[in-house]
Amino acid sequence: MAYFPPETKKAITASFDKVVREGKEYCHEGFLRRADGKVLRIKATGKPRYTGKKVTQVFGALEDITEQYRLLETEYNYAAYLTAILDNLNDVVVTIDTSGTIITANKTMSTIFGYEPDEIMGQDVSILMPDPYAKYHSEFLNHYLETGRAKIIGVGRELPGLHKSGRVFPIELSLSEVVQEGQRQFIGIVKDITERKKAMEEIYKTAYFDDLTELPNMRSFEIDLARVLNQASSQFNALDIYCCLIDMDNFTQYNLSFGKHVGDKILATIGQRINAAIDGDLKVYRGIGDNFLILSTAPVDGENRENESIINTLEWEIHKAIVTPIAVDDLIHSVTAAISSCRLEASKASYEKVNGVLSFGKKRAKKQGPGSVLTIDNAAFEDYNRYNTITHSFQRALQNNEFYLMLQPQFNASNEVIGSEALIRWEHPELGMISPVEFIPVAEESDAIIDIGNWVINEACRLLHDCEQLGKHTRIAVNISGRHIVRADFAETITQLIEKWGLAPDTLMLEITETTLVSSIDLVRERMDKLGELGFFFSIDDFGTGYSSLSYLKELPISELKIDRYFVDEINFHDDEVPIVNSIIDLAHALSVSSVAEGIENEFQKEYLRQRGCEYFQGYFYSRPLPEKAWRDFIMNSSLSKVDLD
Ligand code: C2E
Ligand code: CA
Ligand code: CA
Repeated sequence: MAYFPPETKKAITASFDKVVREGKEYCHEGFLRRADGKVLRIKATGKPRYTGKKVTQVFGALEDITEQYRLLETEYNYAAYLTAILDNLNDVVVTIDTSGTIITANKTMSTIFGYEPDEIMGQDVSILMPDPYAKYHSEFLNHYLETGRAKIIGVGRELPGLHKSGRVFPIELSLSEVVQEGQRQFIGIVKDITERKKAMEEIYKTAYFDDLTELPNMRSFEIDLARVLNQASSQFNALDIYCCLIDMDNFTQYNLSFGKHVGDKILATIGQRINAAIDGDLKVYRGIGDNFLILSTAPVDGENRENESIINTLEWEIHKAIVTPIAVDDLIHSVTAAISSCRLEASKASYEKVNGVLSFGKKRAKKQGPGSVLTIDNAAFEDYNRYNTITHSFQRALQNNEFYLMLQPQFNASNEVIGSEALIRWEHPELGMISPVEFIPVAEESDAIIDIGNWVINEACRLLHDCEQLGKHTRIAVNISGRHIVRADFAETITQLIEKWGLAPDTLMLEITETTLVSSIDLVRERMDKLGELGFFFSIDDFGTGYSSLSYLKELPISELKIDRYFVDEINFHDDEVPIVNSIIDLAHALSVSSVAEGIENEFQKEYLRQRGCEYFQGYFYSRPLPEKAWRDFIMNSSLSKVDLD
């Protein structure tokens, strides 16, 4: 008894007395201090043993229940611990049985659904769902119990939830199945995703929509287009992609004149109008800057002609919607746009191709003038492919020497050669001969024109150098693109080239078109002044087509006006006078520069020009453009060896 602490000792002593006197069994839990000082939890039992009617012996056991207690205690703590976790979760955790009755719910139930856990337990779980989910819930549950098939088990799923107040809100539900004491149960974890949804929508809006017009943006267009292409390519029958690009005419100018806020309002209005004009599978997007795009978000039946006319009508309707005057701040604005569309066989299309075709179509539409509507049909698609091939072959052509020069001599009134114009030729390995009329404008869309221009200058210098070596001094006129001459390094490059070949600047005549002159007059003038000081000569090509004004022509270092072939063509046997030709020649005289006529094809034209005072002559009547060797022979045998200008 000395090993029991007082409490236990007291209880056991009392019970022991009872066994002895009354024969009553006992079972006590208490403590025991071992000899080594460790305290154990014990269970002490006692039973009587009789001799006759008298208790003569008591037997019993002392059981060490320390470990058992420890386990029990942790189990209790663990359950409490879990409950605490569950109650503090931001998610609702709810258990239901196979009939759909809620067995447990954590405290979060009240913050998310508005029900206290006690209130909800025993209710059918469909109380937490709006219709039609609530209506079909028991069916779903039964179906699952019968078949074991359910879409919802194991995965998080977005669903609507129903608050006690009747408010419907978005939730994410994950379900798992457990077996508890032989009973199937379902544990549902419910997240309130109202905030997340809001944030996602916000992000989605900024990422996929344009602020100004509230239309889907370029990124949406890219995604939708990729999807349609994908969809179309997985079908067997011929399907088309329909796409349309609407590019405002002169909008930069518009913004500059009226201010950005007016421009913005106009764009927003046009966006709305286009949106109102389309329906069905068609969708409108705000493109980059002043662009809109329309896409058929479903592939179009390639065989169906009826679609075609619907689409055609649509494009004219959009055209009408755009040109209808727009009022902004008491001012009425009238704008136009180039509308170019394409219908491509989906199997031949790609994202790049669609974009390429659209911008190709846009360029063509712009060339037709403001407010043009244009459709890229199959023939135009071939043009586009050719254009695309050309765009991508310039660098290779330069490396593989696919370009060469032809030279067309120019003459004075005494039929003496005074110089030659260098004209580039391209023998393309796949496309054959390509006219500069076709490829130069394409090269001018990129810096390819710079490389080509420098190549031409170098070739011309090489030819002049060869002639000098043979004792012949002559001059070559080279065509310089506007994009080339405005380059900051143009003067330096051309100077380096002539120095490399040991030539003087006056052996080159730089032909720039009048259109180049008027398009960026300030920059071009600056470059021309500098080059003029360095000793280069300028000829204004295609004169009469570009509306240049006399006042600035006077200030430029020009030595020649070139009468365009188009005007020379006007000189024929039936008409007596061609006023424009006369005035160009007079203008040249007034500016004290020389005049040269190109495209002379007969004696009559030559005589007319000579009599009106034109000084130099070029054209098939004198000589066709000659290949290098024929040209050199021609020049070497010509009488005039010194260029005499001014
Ligand atoms: P351009 O500078 O006005 O060249 C005159 C064009 O008229 C040349 O066509 C020439 O071959 C052609 N021509 C000459 N005489 C006659 C004639 O009597 N009758 C007719 N019908 N045509 C004649 P080409 O060589 O096809 O060049 C066309 C245009 O391509 C040139 O017009 C020029 O703008 C551009 N180009 C040609 N070579 C170059 C170049 O090296 N660099 C640049 N930037 N452009 C070039
Ligand atoms: Ca020319
Ligand atoms: Ca010309």
